[in-house]
Amino acid sequence: MSNFDELLATVPTGLWIDGGPVDPIDGGTFAVLNPATGEKLADVADATGKDALRALDSACRVQQEWAATAPRKRSDILRAAWELATARAEDLALLMTLEMGKALAESRGEVAYGAEFLRWFSEEAVRIQGRYATAPSGNGRILVTKAPVGPCLAITPWNFPLAMGTRKIGPALAAGCTMIVKPAEDTPLTMLLLAEIFAEAGLPAGVLSVLPASDAASVTAPLLADPRLRKVTFTGSTRVGKLLIEQSAQQVLRTSMELGGNAPFVVFDDADVDAAVDGAMAAKMRNGGEACTAANRLIVANSVREEFTAKLTERIAAMTVGAGYEDGTQIGPLINERQRGSVAALVDDAIAAGARVRTGGGVVDGPGYFYQPTVLDNVPADSRIVAEEIFGPVAAITGFDTEDEAIAAANGTEFGLAAYIYTQSLDRAMRVSQALESGMVGVNRGVISDPAAPFGGVKQSGLGSEGGTEGIEEYLETKYVALTL
Ligand code: NAD
Repeated sequence: MSNFDELLATVPTGLWIDGGPVDPIDGGTFAVLNPATGEKLADVADATGKDALRALDSACRVQQEWAATAPRKRSDILRAAWELATARAEDLALLMTLEMGKALAESRGEVAYGAEFLRWFSEEAVRIQGRYATAPSGNGRILVTKAPVGPCLAITPWNFPLAMGTRKIGPALAAGCTMIVKPAEDTPLTMLLLAEIFAEAGLPAGVLSVLPASDAASVTAPLLADPRLRKVTFTGSTRVGKLLIEQSAQQVLRTSMELGGNAPFVVFDDADVDAAVDGAMAAKMRNGGEACTAANRLIVANSVREEFTAKLTERIAAMTVGAGYEDGTQIGPLINERQRGSVAALVDDAIAAGARVRTGGGVVDGPGYFYQPTVLDNVPADSRIVAEEIFGPVAAITGFDTEDEAIAAANGTEFGLAAYIYTQSLDRAMRVSQALESGMVGVNRGVISDPAAPFGGVKQSGLGSEGGTEGIEEYLETKYVALTL
């Protein structure tokens, strides 16, 4: 563990308030564990509501000054943070693998992807624009200006400890907002290291705070009740998202909600089956299946279903499971015992309902929270694994005969985040991608996310977009000035 210990010794473990690490007012700490072993990695400061208000005081003190900082200067700081994060990519990647479990190659991919939000929004910071028009009557002028919404709260999940933060911090800082981040309790270290990188990049004290906490609500509730906070942006479960929307009503906060998904992955009879298998490997197994965009339901034309299933099974059965930092690992552990238990329960329920196990189907014995990469065929359409988000390395396959049936099955969920289709017909690709009730559609590809494109869901998958030119709008207020000239 020596290079792990060396790295961990460099990571701040206090609360990040006013530009540096500080002790929590109540002095508490909580343990961060390595999910590959169950062993403790570090004790991290445990924020309470009192610390949250201290962070908000600090954000409010600098909000006006940060909003008035030249866009080029804000842009330069974001760009410098991208450069420093890129230079420290190996540290960030290893840290993420240690606290979250994913294979090191995946963590490296996340650093590149996550840091890119800082570069993208450094470029957007200098392109915030309003508009000017002559009123249709000809008598007046319409001036539309944009201003930062003000202090924001970001609540982030554990599955992408860096990227889910940078996707919010990048546009907020670019727009001139201050931000308090409450990272997931399983993975606070990556965000603390990022805060240090921002300080090195020249971000003024108070603009960004990080509040790890073992009891999330005790930190977020006082912030949401405080009229000085102007926005909450959340990535996580639909259940918690709904609670936060309710609490946001008290101060009529702006909200961005990136919630759960239940992505359909539809393979039509005219698809290139080998390409579809490649795409399914990425859409299903990336991040060990712990992604809100993960293909949750593989809906495959009955005429190609056996060919697709056999090829996918061969690939999934050959995956190497192990600690993310071991050479050759493709699938790391799940984040914790609770998550592994929930994946196992969904698989057991599907098997009891008549699904056939093609490979895997159980937990891996020994320390850590490992689950076998699994393929289930003949999954009953009304089983829980079809209705609920799996969040693990389990491919659940169902069949269909007609395009209408496939669309109905794909849309038969309260979620609407990502969807994937495989077809060689351009007509069908256009028709089906428009018919899907989903914020994002991948056509003949298993990875959709791109910092230059809007990421977001419809239905119970959320509100708003992150990334793209759309992403910064979530952090800007629109003001209309009526002019008589
Ligand atoms: P979660 O909703 O329990 O936790 C997410 C974050 O919310 C964590 O920081 C947690 O501490 C915090 N939180 C929990 N309860 C809270 C409360 N009462 N008040 C305020 N904050 C609270 O989700 P999870 O189980 O950690 O993560 C998995 C879920 O997140 C999955 O359902 C997945 O779909 C979803 N997710 C969605 C996206 C997306 O972009 N749409 C990305 C990643 C994960």
